[in-house]
Amino acid sequence: MDCAELEKLAADVVAQCVADADAGVAASYIPELARADPRTIGIAIAMPDGSMVSAGAFDTPFSLQSISSVFALTLGLGRIGDQLWARFGREPSGTAYNSIVQLEREGGIPRNPFINAGAIALADLNLSPHQPKEAIGEFIRFLRFLADDLSIFVDQNIARSELAASGRNRALAYFMDAFGNLRHGVDEVLGTYVHYCAAMLDCCQLARAGRFLMCGGRMPNGRVVSERRARRILALMLTCGMYDESGDFAFRAGIPAKSGISGGILAVVPGVASIAVRSPGLNGYGNSTLGVRALQLLTEQTGWSIFGSR
Ligand code: GLN
Repeated sequence: MDCAELEKLAADVVAQCVADADAGVAASYIPELARADPRTIGIAIAMPDGSMVSAGAFDTPFSLQSISSVFALTLGLGRIGDQLWARFGREPSGTAYNSIVQLEREGGIPRNPFINAGAIALADLNLSPHQPKEAIGEFIRFLRFLADDLSIFVDQNIARSELAASGRNRALAYFMDAFGNLRHGVDEVLGTYVHYCAAMLDCCQLARAGRFLMCGGRMPNGRVVSERRARRILALMLTCGMYDESGDFAFRAGIPAKSGISGGILAVVPGVASIAVRSPGLNGYGNSTLGVRALQLLTEQTGWSIFGSR
């Protein structure tokens, strides 16, 4: 499929999604997110040759929320390598993204890095040897490098809004701390975590930031991770990136993806495309209703499922 055909397809997918009856509702437990219009949808597709296709509200910045854990995991693996896995599982949770139940059964070890407990533990890991300010700075610099865009920033209002409403994440953090799976104070860890989540990117910037996963760990300006590591991060996205909807999403779209509660999804077709879609209305799993629909339509029309093209 050439760029012009893909451009038309992306516009069609957006139009079909906008016409969909049920877009779901925007997250309201983080007050700053509740204001988003659930029906807006934007999409951007970055390709290995550097071309970019986009449609809808592709240039509206949104906070990464849990998508940030893909980048936090990449940094963490760069920091301590596979030793990281002593502190994280690699299995789908089958429970809600913010659930605490498995933490008790599994000794304070998050089932995977992509549920909230995992993302909080990643912030803790990336704090060593930094102060929170430095850890946040490192994270933003990494995103700017990946997206090749110095304008990426943290929305302090969103970070503050989440911190003020973080009872549940605080509970997860204290629980892990009680099991000895945090190395820093709960306040420092949560403060870092909410700033990761409040990194603001639009669809084009996010699609560009995902290119290293599309290209076996490489970027046009250098290698980010080994091919093996890129493959493994994608495997985790496929099995855990959409929380307890990961199985159904693999069934529908068949590509690795990671969602966030602001309605963003980063999806990767290895060797072919890095896709960012965003629509704030959520389904019951906390994934974007129209975002999931858009990725299903797109992969069906392009044959991009990793399980086969027909
Ligand atoms: N910052 C959000 C939270 O902690 C992230 C959750 C998500 O994106 N699913 O609840």
